[in-house]
Amino acid sequence: MKRSLTPRSLPCAILTFSALGCASAPGHHPLTMATMYAQSAEYAAASRSVYAAARVQLDDALADPDWSAALEQGVDFAGKPPAIVLDVDETVLDNSPYEARLIEDGASYPSGWDAWCNEGIADPVPGALALTKYAAERGVTVFYLTNRKAHLEEGTYRNLVARGFPVDGGLDALLMADERPDWTSNKSSRRQHLSATHRIVMMFGDNLGDFVARDEARGTPAEREGVMARHGEWWGTRWFMVPNAMYGYWDGAVLDYDYARGEAELDRLRLNALEQKR
Ligand SMILES: [Mg+2]
Repeated sequence: MKRSLTPRSLPCAILTFSALGCASAPGHHPLTMATMYAQSAEYAAASRSVYAAARVQLDDALADPDWSAALEQGVDFAGKPPAIVLDVDETVLDNSPYEARLIEDGASYPSGWDAWCNEGIADPVPGALALTKYAAERGVTVFYLTNRKAHLEEGTYRNLVARGFPVDGGLDALLMADERPDWTSNKSSRRQHLSATHRIVMMFGDNLGDFVARDEARGTPAEREGVMARHGEWWGTRWFMVPNAMYGYWDGAVLDYDYARGEAELDRLRLNALEQKR
């Protein structure tokens, strides 16, 4: 259910998912725009476009025995059953109503995050449901590889099931951060784990870390641009990036991933990062 934000939400607005502080400036805040965008027809069209491209590509991917989408996979995937791997937050589940709560409450992540996850009421990111269902119908195993922590697995599972996502493997279809000792927020080890039994044919995310090792994904803006460019031909064929303007390493990268600064300093770094032409 959509609710309008009240004026009391404005004086102290949430910055980003990872920000620690609360904005001191009254009035309009950048996250308000980003959250509005996440709830817009334009965003829905964009994410549908991403998933529609994947659907067009999927049959070719399945038919090509040499087709792989996981860097960690190596060449030893012959004969393994196909799988697709999707991140959860802002890839298959839309948390923009949680962001709206934060804006309204003048709070910041992770305030209320566990409760939101356990409510299990996030809606699908547009396009994600159709693609995952189509893949499952084609005999492709669907895995959800998320940096939500292990204690949120049951709530996340309930949410996915309630919205109709294929989770045929039960809880094993979800790979949570910290679920095993070596399953860190670097998703590489979990991709390796899946590659032992499956040929990963496509991956979906909203962050570079959903595709490459965490260290690579968390470089400087210039380094991240290089990572993106190095895999140029995989975007839209093997790797599918859903837009997320609310939070991500793209923001952390200009802050040296250090949100424990004053808001004024964070704002200064963001402004400095903008490229302009006159
Ligand atoms: Mg995500």
